[in-house]
Amino acid sequence: MHQSAMQRMWSSSHLSGGNAAYVEELYELYLHDPNSVPEQWRSFFQQLPIDGSVAPDISHSTVRDQFRLLAKNQRRAQPLATGSVSTEHEKKQVEVLRMIQAFRMRGHQQAKLDPLGLWQRNKPADLEVNYYNLTNADLDSTFHAGALYIGKEEASLREIRDALKATYCGSIGAEYMHIVDSEQRQWFQQRMESVRGRPAFSKEVKAHLLERLSAAEGLEKYLGSKYPGVKRFGLEGGESLIPMLDEIIQRGGAGGIREMVIGMAHRGRLNVLVNTLGKNPRELFDEFEGKHLSSTLGSGDVKYHQGFSSNVMTAGGEVHLALAFNPSHLEIVAPVVEGSVRARQDRREDVDGSLVMPIICHGDAAFAGQGVVMETFQMSQTRGFKTGGTIHIVINNQVGFTISKQEDARSTEYCTDIAKMVQAPILHVNADDPEAVLFATQIAVDYRQQFKRDVVIDLVCYRRRGHNEADEPSGTQPLMYQQISKQRTSRELYAEALIAEGSLSAEDAQAKVDEYRNALDNGLHVVKSLVKEPNSEMFVDWRPYLGHAWTAYHDTRFDLKTLQELSQRLLKTPEGFVIQRQVGKIYEDRQKMTAGALPINWGFAETMAYATLLHEKHSIRLIGQDIGRGTFSHRHAVLHNQKDASVYVPLQHLADDQPEFDIYDSFLSEEAVLAFEYGYATTTPNALVIWEAQFGDFANGAQVVIDQFITSGEHKWGRLCGLTMLLPHGYEGQGPEHSSARLERYLQLCAEHNVQVCVPTTPAQVYHMLRRQVIRPLRKPLIALTPKSLLRHKLAISTLEELAEGGFQTVIPEIDTLDAKKVTRVVMCSGKVYYDLLEKRRAEERDDIAIVRIEQLYPFPEEDLAAVIAPYKNLKHAVWCQEEPMNQGAWYCSQHHMRRVLSAHNSKLFLEYAGREASAAPACGYSQMHTEQQEKLLQDAFTV
Ligand code: AMP
Repeated sequence: MHQSAMQRMWSSSHLSGGNAAYVEELYELYLHDPNSVPEQWRSFFQQLPIDGSVAPDISHSTVRDQFRLLAKNQRRAQPLATGSVSTEHEKKQVEVLRMIQAFRMRGHQQAKLDPLGLWQRNKPADLEVNYYNLTNADLDSTFHAGALYIGKEEASLREIRDALKATYCGSIGAEYMHIVDSEQRQWFQQRMESVRGRPAFSKEVKAHLLERLSAAEGLEKYLGSKYPGVKRFGLEGGESLIPMLDEIIQRGGAGGIREMVIGMAHRGRLNVLVNTLGKNPRELFDEFEGKHLSSTLGSGDVKYHQGFSSNVMTAGGEVHLALAFNPSHLEIVAPVVEGSVRARQDRREDVDGSLVMPIICHGDAAFAGQGVVMETFQMSQTRGFKTGGTIHIVINNQVGFTISKQEDARSTEYCTDIAKMVQAPILHVNADDPEAVLFATQIAVDYRQQFKRDVVIDLVCYRRRGHNEADEPSGTQPLMYQQISKQRTSRELYAEALIAEGSLSAEDAQAKVDEYRNALDNGLHVVKSLVKEPNSEMFVDWRPYLGHAWTAYHDTRFDLKTLQELSQRLLKTPEGFVIQRQVGKIYEDRQKMTAGALPINWGFAETMAYATLLHEKHSIRLIGQDIGRGTFSHRHAVLHNQKDASVYVPLQHLADDQPEFDIYDSFLSEEAVLAFEYGYATTTPNALVIWEAQFGDFANGAQVVIDQFITSGEHKWGRLCGLTMLLPHGYEGQGPEHSSARLERYLQLCAEHNVQVCVPTTPAQVYHMLRRQVIRPLRKPLIALTPKSLLRHKLAISTLEELAEGGFQTVIPEIDTLDAKKVTRVVMCSGKVYYDLLEKRRAEERDDIAIVRIEQLYPFPEEDLAAVIAPYKNLKHAVWCQEEPMNQGAWYCSQHHMRRVLSAHNSKLFLEYAGREASAAPACGYSQMHTEQQEKLLQDAFTV
């Protein structure tokens, strides 16, 4: 039953106040064992809709009304509560059950979570016995323990209270009562209560824990003494992360996980690289010494941003680990990891995420502060983005650079409260209690595997040094650092505890420290489970995609007859499927286009690019806010049955053995979604992966992804990416928003052939551009500015033959037949303005002007442009014409390429500009002004 519905019932009936907790507890008991509650309650509960049976589309008000009705009927038929709580003891029993619920809800507020012991927290009144009208005299009275997993039905109040304190107020603060699904809540209760929050671990397990802590501490100490003052963003204070990751990998592997992708910020990364992924310490030392490793491509990145891959052995077999590269922009790596995981799951046909699991480490301040965290949670259960649950680890060192005051850092009690938006359970755990860390980790892994939902571990630790090793923290956090200077390390504390309880000798504890140090001295691998010769079938071979120039030969032609057959298949819909009228018209037109009876338009050509690629065994993934239909209704790749709202995707029904064609409308995010698709594309070379912006300028919400991954990932980290971004762009008088895709931003980021920027102007061009993106082995991001009104422009048409033959033209020469000798002016342009120029020239019957389209602005096709203008020997004017203001568009970033070509053609030629004047906004808001500006820039193109 929905918790909230339950609560509403209490507030709408006589079952309010203290009795509510009693009934709630009875209900938990009933779910556990229906026969354990009195008959009258059993029949009452039986009438309530249970979780699994509540149809998702039953409105809340319906559920509430049902509760009201039930409560009313019950009231009439029988005075429900009174009989059960009539005697003094029974009244107390009600109170005891309320207390049990209170500990489950709020026990974490009293848990001992802060290793520094500095937290000042108000004790919740309802965690005290006397809050419940119970006194010390009742401590030895016996009560029913309800559904409390205490090993017996009845226990003394003292036993119940002590069990609750041990379970919920120890080193783990468990928050799970916000979960609506009672099966999950009970699962947590069982896990926590059956061992009173602290299972007994064997000596071997304890020794292993200490070994991992010794490794974590040992590496930092070693680096600290060998490279004093060098930035490494050490893990000191949060060493428990290493045993935690170890347990996730080992337990996950034993449970069937075959791949894990880990995302994290820079703190602790070197430690994870060496102690978890098994990077050779010697390589790390080389990086500390500033050596440029021959294996790294491009310009490289600092060592604490580096990723790594390895295979480790677990009880369930070999597990492939990939630590994602990341920039300094905290948290943005989270959706990238999710995308990479989803790609691996798709590759393995792992539909529920049983085989591939994401692990994401966060910092406390960033987790609370960065919006992309919310976006990543929001995607966690959606069709297009879910990955079967993520294990989130917050490395909560209680300070974000220099901010530690809670009232400055956030408005929520915990930094993890954001996770409650998806009802993720949260396990806060004191990092100085390694066994509690281990237990919390086991619960998290098991929960993820069982329920396939996100779970959060809040590893409450501290940061022994400043933000980095060159930073002095006591200037801003004086009291905290006074305490930290006295604080023994997690390893020291745990070693002492083990020695004291007799699990380990002092010599054994010291031996772990010495062994580790010796291994580092000798530059040996320190991960014992590392597989030295990894099974290479566990990951993709990227070698075929390495080392190609953008000019590499490719052939995007496609047999005409097969193309027509594919189109025919796309136009067939299932029996009885009723297509909406306008969509039907589009499909009728496509029928004519297939037969050659109508020139082909954008929607047809684009669809055929997908169909032909699928036919050639390339899978396709299309994501965007309106990708199914297309913002401007040109695509209609997803058909909606007007009778019953069922959907049919023709591109998924081309052939039985075709590759995947995935198409999902995304939720309304750009940042996380684009990052996800980047992660997907960098993991899947043999696929066309497209993200489409609703309008081109929507991509500005994802600028961090563009700057820090898409345009620079290959050069920083050697990670290739064939992602395509479709950005609707065009000046059509719609005002400052949604006119410009901000072409200038992409062009400004272009260097070293890092990306491709294309502005196709014909259906055949978009067809060949998309096919080229996959058929050519080069994997470079493609930023394509796509049209809006041009989707239906009478001149923006192509023929079937142009799809079957030809290829993508980086420069399109003049299409009208002009006498080259008479041409004295060449106007170069990109995009929609071409058609305005063409119409004007035709209307004015000018035969002295050639109009040349530059369809690929980067890498700039200088040779192709030179070849196109070569016949014009009598040129006196060369103009670049654009719709965008002068400070925007291609003018500033691309003119040097054009100048170079022009001066080689005729050293007297000077490149002139025809376009809007520089402007703060991308476009004006008044349509009359827009028209005047447009007419002027066209006129300028012919006269300047
Ligand atoms: P992963 O499965 O991400 O650990 O990748 C395994 C190996 O494949 C890496 O060590 C790289 O050598 C290679 N690799 C993975 N992704 C890419 C990429 N996007 N570009 C180039 N090589 C890659």
